[in-house]
Amino acid sequence: ALQQLQHGTVLEVNLDALTHNLQHYRRQLRPGTKLMVMVKAFAYGSGSYEVASLLEFQKADYLAVAYPDEGQQLRDNGISLPIMVLNPGPDSFGQLRRYRLEPEIYSLERLRDYLAATQEATADGEGPLPPLHLKLDTGMRRLGFAEDDLPGLLALLRAHRNRLPVAGIMTHLAAADDPAHDEFTREQLSTFRRMAAAIEEALGHSVLKHALNSAGIRRFPEAQFDMVRLGVGLYGVEAGRDDAQPSDLLPVSTLRTTVSQVKTLPPGATVGYGRRGAATAHERRVATLAIGYADGYDRRFGNGAGLVLLHGHRAPVVGSVCMDMLMVDVTDIPEAQPGDVAVVFGAGLDISELAARIGTIPYELLTNVSERVKRVFV
Ligand code: PLP
Repeated sequence: ALQQLQHGTVLEVNLDALTHNLQHYRRQLRPGTKLMVMVKAFAYGSGSYEVASLLEFQKADYLAVAYPDEGQQLRDNGISLPIMVLNPGPDSFGQLRRYRLEPEIYSLERLRDYLAATQEATADGEGPLPPLHLKLDTGMRRLGFAEDDLPGLLALLRAHRNRLPVAGIMTHLAAADDPAHDEFTREQLSTFRRMAAAIEEALGHSVLKHALNSAGIRRFPEAQFDMVRLGVGLYGVEAGRDDAQPSDLLPVSTLRTTVSQVKTLPPGATVGYGRRGAATAHERRVATLAIGYADGYDRRFGNGAGLVLLHGHRAPVVGSVCMDMLMVDVTDIPEAQPGDVAVVFGAGLDISELAARIGTIPYELLTNVSERVKRVFV
C-alpha cells in the first residue's frame, strides 16, 4: 500500500485485522448464537463490498445496512448473505423484494403497508416479500414499537400471522457501553424479553431475537438471545472498554497521507487561512500534507486539536484545516521531508483518542472518510 501512496491520501484497510476482530467476538458468543454484522455506511467507511465479501467467506449469518440502496449495491456486487435494512422507506418494498432485503419494521403503519404489499405481490404472482424484523423501542426512543403499541401490534399479528413473514424481533441499546447506565440497560433488556415473549405467543412460533451491539456483546453476555449485531468492534474500536484494559482488537483502517512540501518559517510568520496558525517567536518547520476536510479530515482538528504521526513522532496541526491540505509543525522532526508518509489515524495513532480531542466518537471519524480517498485492501 505504501508504494501506491506516491502522493495523496489512502485508507488502508487491513482485512487480516478485521478477521482477527471477527474471531475475537465469535469467541464470546454462546454456541449457536448467530452473528449479524453492520456494514452500513460503506462498512463504517472501510468499503462495504470487500468487507461484505470477507464476511460471507467467514460465514457471518447476516449483514445489515441502513438503507435499501446500500443493500442493492451489495447484491449488485454478488453478496448473497441475508441482509437486513434498518430504515427502509415507505416506497421501497419493490426494491426489498427484488434484492431480497429484510426490512426492519418499526410501526403499525409500516406493518400494515407491508401486509398490503405482501398481499399485492402474491396476487400479482411476483413472489413473496422477504421476511421482516420487528423493531421494539425499549428505551432508545428512536425507531420501534413502544410497549404502548403492543396491544395493536399483537392484534394485527394474531389476525394475519400466516401472511406476515416475521424473521426476527429486535431492539437497540442506548448506553450498553456505559456502566453508569447499566440499570437502564437491564431495564431495556427485560422490556425486550417481555415484549418479545408476547409477540412470539401471538405469532405462534419463535423467531430470531437480537439486541446486542458491540459494547453489548462485551458487557451483557447473558443477553445474546439468538443473534448479536456487531458493528464498530469489527472495525477495531473497542466499545465499552474500561480504558485501563488493553484492547484485544486490532485497528482495521489506517488513514495515511503524504508530505507535499516542508518549509522553514521565520519568527513572526503566520500559517494558512485567516492567519489562524499564530506567529511564534522562534523559527519553525512546517510540513504541508495532502489531506483536508474534503477527504473527511475534520476541520475541528485545526490549530493543535489534531495531530499526525510522522517518523513515529506526533506532529500537531498548525492553523486551519484547508479543503485539500493541512499544515503540521515538524520542528521537532528534523528528518521530515517531501514524500514522507504520515499516519492520520489507525495503526500507531488511536482513533478513539483523536475523536475525543474534538469531542466526537470514532464512528464519525471512520464514516467521514470521503469517497475520493482510495481504499486499499491489504
Ligand atoms: N444495531 C443497530 C440497530 C445499530 O443502529 C447499530 C449501529 O449503530 C448497531 C447495531 C451496531 O452498533 P456498534 O457499532 O456500536 O456495535
